[in-house]
Amino acid sequence: MSSALPSFEEASAMVAKHASQLSPPGAIERVELSCAAGRVLAQPLHADRDQPPFVRSTRDGYACRAAEASAHASLVMAGSTRAGQPPSGPLPPGAAWEIMTGAPVPAGADAVMMVEHVEALDGRVRLLPPRTLSAGENIVAQGAQAHAGDELLGAGLTIGYAQIALAASCGYATLHVYPRPRVAILSTGDELVPIESEPAPGQIRNSSSLMLAAQVAAAGGEPWTLPVAGDRAELLDSALEQAAVADLLLITGGVSAGKFDLVEPALARRGARFHFTGVRIQPGKPLVFGELPAASTSQNQNRTKYFFGLPGNPISSAVTFQLFAAPVLSALGGAIDRGPRFTLARLACDVKGKPSLTRFLPARCTFTGNAPEVERVEWQGSGDLVAMARSNCFLVVPEETGSLQAGATVRILLA
Ligand code: AMP
Ligand code: MG
Repeated sequence: MSSALPSFEEASAMVAKHASQLSPPGAIERVELSCAAGRVLAQPLHADRDQPPFVRSTRDGYACRAAEASAHASLVMAGSTRAGQPPSGPLPPGAAWEIMTGAPVPAGADAVMMVEHVEALDGRVRLLPPRTLSAGENIVAQGAQAHAGDELLGAGLTIGYAQIALAASCGYATLHVYPRPRVAILSTGDELVPIESEPAPGQIRNSSSLMLAAQVAAAGGEPWTLPVAGDRAELLDSALEQAAVADLLLITGGVSAGKFDLVEPALARRGARFHFTGVRIQPGKPLVFGELPAASTSQNQNRTKYFFGLPGNPISSAVTFQLFAAPVLSALGGAIDRGPRFTLARLACDVKGKPSLTRFLPARCTFTGNAPEVERVEWQGSGDLVAMARSNCFLVVPEETGSLQAGATVRILLA
């Protein structure tokens, strides 16, 4: 009975509430800065010195006193400084000082005339009228960006290229990061064969395990792909026993209402608490979310284990991972920015449908124009890997409306 199921928003709120109580399961690690991209900062990053560490020129030109330059006085060239070199002395009155971008500004100077704006002749330099110069122009004061000891970045931030550059500028050769949560990926289904195999009639290759491993890695986890479990209670029991040591369990397939959908009973046999067993979304309606009691073999004995039973169709698995599992994984990884990531775009085509479930339709968004524009990618349902691979986002169709008009501003889930 779909009306008894939580809506997308209700299910998201439930997952977010559980995620907010999670913390990273293992000891903090120390990694080389060169290997830190994608990891989550476990300790704040501090400035080891003022940034910039000296009054710095942002232009090639002439350091001077702005008032003298603006009077268009002919200033005598008192010295020259390049990046990496402290000035040999202060700036004398009535003088200018040749300076390169990134070089320390001599004491006494309060601005830099750009080389393009002056006339330089016979050891003298003059700002060309009608240009004038204000104090502070083309220089950055010492400590303008940060002071020595300031906290620059807090724990929980995911490290990207910008954070690496900042850490490098502060002399961090290594960073403390949270451990990557270990995520068990268990695909179920008698019809699944390994990707190297030639499927017999009725069989298909197991595409979801590798897909989810890629999604787990992108969300900051360490994927642990288990062998496929067949649709038999005892096979599921032993696979779940094995998977229970992971920090998070993803099980795909076997959560619908079919005769061989045996995952929920198998989880129940292990003492699972189910938070929901379906959501009013499409694809992904049979999604299961819950927790298992701590496994006695686990290193983290006091912790319950969250699990997601992802519907078997690959697009259902992919979408429900992005919407619900990724935020839990991010929380286990210590990240404060948990997603899922939505943005607004202009819809390029009509979308027809009836109010029913919140739909997430494969779509392609272009970001090259003035505003993002999104178009549907035709699909043959939630098993259509071709459509998903040709899309780069999912168009969100709210359950109250079911249809959308071309030109409307719509939400998209970024893949
Ligand atoms: P199920 O939820 O087990 O009924 O599976 C729904 C559909 O998804 C079936 O057509 C399955 O063959 C397919 N499916 C399930 N698991 C996978 C997988 N790991 N890779 C590709 N397709 C799958
Ligand atoms: Mg199945």
